[in-house]
Amino acid sequence: MIERPNAVIDLGDNTSRFGTPPAALRVFADAGPGDASEYPAPDAGALRAALAEVHGVPPARVVTGCGSDDVIECAIRAFAREGERLAFAAPTFSMIPEFARNQRMEAVPVPFLPDGAWPVDTLLAARPHVLYLCAPNNPTGHVPGGDLERLLACGAGLVILDQAYAEFAGRMRIEAPEHPRLLVTRTLSKAYGLAGLRIGYGVASEAVIGRIGRVRGPYRIGRLAERAAVAALREDHGWAHAHVALARAARAALSAALEAAGFRPHASEANFVLLPLAGAAAVARRMLALGVRVRAFTGLPGSGDALRITVGPPPEMDAALRALAAATGEAADAVALRRADR
Ligand SMILES: *Cc1c(COP(=O)(O)O)cnc(C)c1O
Repeated sequence: MIERPNAVIDLGDNTSRFGTPPAALRVFADAGPGDASEYPAPDAGALRAALAEVHGVPPARVVTGCGSDDVIECAIRAFAREGERLAFAAPTFSMIPEFARNQRMEAVPVPFLPDGAWPVDTLLAARPHVLYLCAPNNPTGHVPGGDLERLLACGAGLVILDQAYAEFAGRMRIEAPEHPRLLVTRTLSKAYGLAGLRIGYGVASEAVIGRIGRVRGPYRIGRLAERAAVAALREDHGWAHAHVALARAARAALSAALEAAGFRPHASEANFVLLPLAGAAAVARRMLALGVRVRAFTGLPGSGDALRITVGPPPEMDAALRALAAATGEAADAVALRRADR
């Protein structure tokens, strides 16, 4: 049995492994007592202005929240009632069925088509009150094909397009169809390396933003978090860009190394790689004992058991590959031993 090391390399949550925007850290160094004793701005106006500038939309089309989780959940609360349907292509972000449950909605998971495209017809046939789409999708990492315009054009409910990983697919700016019922969500938790601040946002029509705003209420974002986020957006766009480039290079190297080792990773446009692997949960436990945390999934539609590995700098990827080889080797040894026992 190997001791669990003190310093675990955490490749389980897709947060940034490439550091923190320096302008955001300066804000914390310069903090004063009022930043703790006074309320923040009720609707994070400075942050909305900065985000509006990044994406080239009016501030009235931006809503912020305590992580994009919060924006998504507020949107669901604003648009759906108990008993209504929340449809999504499966597998996807694990919080979505939970949000449906919290709202006493009916979750309607529809498997992706075999080629990874949106199951457009089946999603539309579900007549959802809220349709959740994620691109690049978590945990598969792919950008689904299929007719997004048709998904938007049909039905009367809210469509959420979760772009938490879009920067890693080469989209620093939101490019989404103009549609009155579409909410595009993003986060500073991934490409901007600020998961600890809990800053998420959405861009939509003014009508959708207004409706979410009434559910959201004031003060979702702390003073220092807002100021640090604004500093990162205004001063560290280059930092984020460079970090994304490093993550993309690390992703390509990780995928190539996994393939060279005989694995079959999914092609990814995000900052993680999904690796179908029988017995993934046991492998993840062994990897953790070796100092590397990854996320295990059991019985994913279309993939079965799988590991999701966040991409990080080369030394972390080397450690992950070594732990994976040792953990799967140990598993193979255990199977061989069991066979020998018989
Ligand atoms: C990480 C993630 C988020 C972002 O969560 P935050 O609440 O903004 O930290 C949103 N959607 C998906 C699919 C994610 O993987």
